[in-house]
Amino acid sequence: MNLSCYLAGKPIASNRHLAVNNPYHGKAVGSVTLAGREQTDAAIVEALNWREPPTRFQRSQILEKARNLLETRNEEFARLITAESGLCLRETRYEVGRALEVLRFAAMEALRDDGQIFSCDVSPQGKARKIFTLREPLGCAVCITPFNHPLNQVAHKLAPAIAAGTPVVLKPSEKTPLTAIRFAELLYEAGLPGPMLSVLLGATAEVAEPLVRDPRVDLVSFTGSGAVGKRIAATAGYKRLVLELGGNDPLIVLDDADLDLAVALAAEGSYRNSGQRCTAVKRILVQETIAGEFTRRLVGKSEEYPCGDPMEDATRVGTVIDEQAAIYLETVVKESVASGARVLIGGDRRGALFPPTVIANVPRDCRMVTCESFGPLAPIITVRDLDDAIALANSTEYGLSSGVVTGSLEKAIACVKRLRCGNVNINEVPGYRVENSPFGGIKDSGLGIKEGVIEAIKCFSFVKTFSLAW
Ligand code: NAP
Repeated sequence: MNLSCYLAGKPIASNRHLAVNNPYHGKAVGSVTLAGREQTDAAIVEALNWREPPTRFQRSQILEKARNLLETRNEEFARLITAESGLCLRETRYEVGRALEVLRFAAMEALRDDGQIFSCDVSPQGKARKIFTLREPLGCAVCITPFNHPLNQVAHKLAPAIAAGTPVVLKPSEKTPLTAIRFAELLYEAGLPGPMLSVLLGATAEVAEPLVRDPRVDLVSFTGSGAVGKRIAATAGYKRLVLELGGNDPLIVLDDADLDLAVALAAEGSYRNSGQRCTAVKRILVQETIAGEFTRRLVGKSEEYPCGDPMEDATRVGTVIDEQAAIYLETVVKESVASGARVLIGGDRRGALFPPTVIANVPRDCRMVTCESFGPLAPIITVRDLDDAIALANSTEYGLSSGVVTGSLEKAIACVKRLRCGNVNINEVPGYRVENSPFGGIKDSGLGIKEGVIEAIKCFSFVKTFSLAW
């Protein structure tokens, strides 16, 4: 599959190509032509010159048609994501389902006017006037996306932007560019005017960095690592920023938890998407009185997650994104063992495959749990009580999401109030959300500005007010 970047809806011809290989067997999956500095500038100009935003009805129709097209090609997209990312089909079929929901919610929201009316005769100094609010599209938004949900991360930026009528220059991950480009082609086919979307890949210094720095860009909406997010914050200058960054989310398991539920959530939270979710369970904080039984059951549960060929229907954990990522996981596991932790199942890397791995007796200060480990690791740390669990949960730089397993409403409410993060899920995995609910983190996980279809539409638009004598 040989694809092109797109400048305002037209394929870019270039003699520079990016090769994409399958992380499982290393064979070629496809290639993409690369853009340079000239096309980066042209993409911004095309977006800014676009003066014919579709009506709300037309935007909704484009999104609805895109949803229908994606539904008829769901298996094709799932297989493409699997081929370039190594995520197993179980995960990539689920991801296509999520993207369908994003498109549906965005199509609905495109029709909804959230304008407000303020009467001005409400104070002694008031006048017989009314103030009205309306939303206007931005001139140009830049969206930069990561590899771990190659379709859904792109859909979560583009669908709300289309609903808002805002032209976008998209820079997808160079590890998973094929899905992003096929999705852009699907949007053009659904009727998206070319100038409303350019898709560029190329050297960071020629594409991503100039897009971030350009003063004509109104918004940079970035999802990715904390390191790159902070770099963007330092260089973007005077423009709106949405930063959705990494996490090391805890699953807190208290002594009154339903243990079967806790074990199921720990396994799903740690292993889904090969553990490569910003909201994956990256630390399991278990009350010490139940830690032995919980650990024994989690080891058993982990055997239900076969790791292997991502294209096999029976596989539940495919590869991580590349061999380098698997080597990193191997390194942090070995470091934890050197500090006293014990690997109870898994831990043995084969190429880019890293199996579900339960690690017990994990010290609180090892890199595996203080930093973000992006893989199917289930590190168990024991805690004395609720206060200890909350203090430990809050002790890292991140603040994305969290899960708490407890039978006590009182303890659940204490966690909602005291956990310093963007989302708290009681008796659920930290990653639980629906595609139109507000989502996003604080601290090093983000600036507290939420995404999710409804909130993202607000980010992709300005509110203008006007007033009239009334
Ligand atoms: P990454 O390395 O930060 O890359 C993300 C994107 O930024 C890629 O498109 C990358 O391009 C681009 N980039 C790299 N250097 C840049 C620069 N100097 N200026 C502008 N853009 C630049 O992240 P990743 O490894 O792809 O994704 C995993 C990370 O994303 C994890 O930390 C995960 O937690 C986080 N994430 C967060 C959320 C959330 O909602 N909070 C959701 C999903 C993932 P290249 O591919 O060309 O390097």
